[in-house]
Amino acid sequence: MLNLVLFGPPGAGKGTQSEKLIEKYQLIHVSTGDLFRAHVKNQTELGKKVSQLMADGELVPDAITIAMLEEEVDKNPEAKGFVFDGFPRTVPQAAELDLFLERKGSKIAGVIALDVDQLELTKRIAERHKVSGRPDDDAEKLKKRISEYFDKTIHVLPYYEVQGKLNKVNGMNEISTVYNHLCAVIDKY
Ligand code: ADP
Repeated sequence: MLNLVLFGPPGAGKGTQSEKLIEKYQLIHVSTGDLFRAHVKNQTELGKKVSQLMADGELVPDAITIAMLEEEVDKNPEAKGFVFDGFPRTVPQAAELDLFLERKGSKIAGVIALDVDQLELTKRIAERHKVSGRPDDDAEKLKKRISEYFDKTIHVLPYYEVQGKLNKVNGMNEISTVYNHLCAVIDKY
């Protein structure tokens, strides 16, 4: 199995690149953000629990997030691998993902962090807000999401670095250039 984690702050381009990568490598895209948004849209019990947190730009508690992620992976027993996008976002999520994959005789092949500076992120999300209709894309909520990122999510990087699994790719380039760099890294895994 080829399991990848695409890592980066809000607006780094994880979703865009994931879509291209799953096609090339025949993987399943698992975006916890997309899964949560689907729950909110369908007004499921889970959706009701998380909608306020998401709208405020706060992270959903680990236990809820991990359970949803594991369920999604288990729905795809024939998968050749997964691209995890927006997960893990905390160190406990990363540790639990390792244990979960280990139980399946699998592992994370590599983690690619998309590097994009804060000014560019703010610009991209302001643009996206015009079309996304996402309540958490407004400027105030985005600040909260970025602060959650630097508070909790950034610590996931050293977790994978000590395992020798971390690669960085410049996310400031054009979409196709970033994609080519990602493929070059993934081909080595
Ligand atoms: P972004 O555009 O910031 O990358 P996502 O679409 O990945 O955002 O996630 C949107 C929201 O969903 C987050 O702000 C958070 O509330 C929730 N969420 C998504 N993934 C996770 C996660 N792994 N842990 C906790 N909360 C999450």
